[in-house]
Amino acid sequence: MMGNMENRDLIIVGSGILGLATAFLAHQQGRTVCIIDRSDHPVGSSIQNFGHACFTGQADIIQPVAEMAREGWLQAAAATGIWAAETGTYIPAVTEAELQVLREFAEHRGGGQVQLLSGEEVGRALGNPGLPALGGAWLPRDMRVNPREAAPKLAAWLEGRGVEFRWKTQVTAVEDGVVVTNRGEFHAAEVVVCPGYELGGLFPELAEDRGVRVCTLAMSLIEKPARIPDGLAMLSGTSLTRYDGFTALPGAPALRAELAEREPELVGCVANLMVTDIPEGLLIGDSHAYAHSPEPFIDEGVAQLLLDRATSLLGIERPVVKQRWLGRYADSVSTNLVLERPDEKTTIAVVTSGIGMTLSFGIARLILDGESVQF
Ligand SMILES: Cc1cc2nc3c(=O)[nH]c(=O)nc-3n(C[C@H](O)[C@H](O)[C@H](O)COP(=O)(O)OP(=O)(O)OC[C@H]3O[C@@H](n4cnc5c(N)ncnc54)[C@H](O)[C@@H]3O)c2cc1C
Repeated sequence: MMGNMENRDLIIVGSGILGLATAFLAHQQGRTVCIIDRSDHPVGSSIQNFGHACFTGQADIIQPVAEMAREGWLQAAAATGIWAAETGTYIPAVTEAELQVLREFAEHRGGGQVQLLSGEEVGRALGNPGLPALGGAWLPRDMRVNPREAAPKLAAWLEGRGVEFRWKTQVTAVEDGVVVTNRGEFHAAEVVVCPGYELGGLFPELAEDRGVRVCTLAMSLIEKPARIPDGLAMLSGTSLTRYDGFTALPGAPALRAELAEREPELVGCVANLMVTDIPEGLLIGDSHAYAHSPEPFIDEGVAQLLLDRATSLLGIERPVVKQRWLGRYADSVSTNLVLERPDEKTTIAVVTSGIGMTLSFGIARLILDGESVQF
C-alpha cells in the first residue's frame, strides 16, 4: 500500500484508446504516468470496433483535431509497431442520391481529401468488379488500425517502457489529485479520467447533465474471401447520413428520404452499414440502439440484415460467420465530446459518439495542452 502514496506526474483512469493515447503522449514528454483500470487488459469499446480512422468524414470544425489524431496514430505506429495503415476509405454509390452527396463532398473538400471514382473503379477497389455502382469515392487521408491489436499492444509497449499499470483496480472517486480505489488511494499532480461509457459510475451528475447514455451496436466477424483487399474500409449510403462531415451537405436530406423509402429496415435499426478487415476476417456492422442500462441480447434479424446488405455490396454469396457481439460506446444527444476540468488537477474526457478511435490521439493532445473544443 505504501507504493500508492508515491506522487506521480499523471494518473490516467481507463486503459481504452483515449487513456492510452494520453499516456503515450505524456510518456513522450518525459512524465511519470500510472494507468488504473478495473479490468486486467483493455476490453472496452476500444477493442469492439471497426478500427476505422475516419478523419475525412468528421465535421469541418474538428478537422484540426482529426489532423493531430492522424499524426498521433502514425507516430504511435512508428514507435510501437502497431498496424496503422494509410489505406483510405472507399464509398460505393448505388443510387443517384448517394452519388450526389459524394459529388458535393468532393467539391467541398477538394481532391486531396475526396477523389470521385467510376462505378467500375469502386467495384474493383472493393474486390467486387461486378458491383452495380453508379460511382463512388475514395477518401485517401483515412486510415485503418486493428482494434484487437492497437490498445493491448500500446499498453504492453508503455508498460515495457516504465509506465505503471494498476489493473483490476476499481476507481471510486477522483478529486484534486487524489484517486480513491478499492485498493487504496493514489496521488498525482494531474489526473485524467477516460472511463468511456462508464462515466456515470464516477461522475453521475456530469453524465446526466450531458445526456450520456450507452449506444449498443450489432457486429459480426465473417471469413474473408481472398479477393477482398487487405486494409479494406468501406462506408455506404447510411454512413453518409451519420458522419457530421457528410450530413452538413445540401444533398443529405434527399439521401435520408431516399434511404427511408428504399431501405426502411436499415433506417429502422439506425444502421451505419460498413465493413473493415482484420487478420481474422471481415468486421461487419452496425446498428445503433440507445439506453442507460442496455440488455445484452443481439437481435438476429438486425444482425442478419446488416450481414445481408454488406455482403451483397462485396459480392459474398455465402458468408461464414465466425463471431457476433454487441459493442458498446458512450453516446450523447447533445455533444460528441465531454471534456471537463472539474478542479485544477482533474480532466474528464469521454468521446460521446462512435468516433473515439479516429480522434483519440487528437483529443489526447487537447487534454494534455489544457485546451477544449465543442462539436
Ligand atoms: C461496435 C463499435 C464500432 C465502432 N467503430 C469505430 C470506428 O470504426 N472508428 C472510431 O473512431 N470509433 C469507433 N467506435 C467508437 C470507439 O470504439 C470509442 O469511441 C473508443 O474506443 C472509446 O475509447 P475510450 O478509451 O474512451 O473507452 P474504452 O475503450 O471503453 O475504455 C474505458 C476504460 O475505462 C475503464 N474504466 C471505466 N470506469 C472505470 C473505473 N471506475 N475504474 C477503473 N477503470 C474504469 C474500463 O474498464 C475501460 O477499460 C466504435 C465503437 C463500437 C462499440
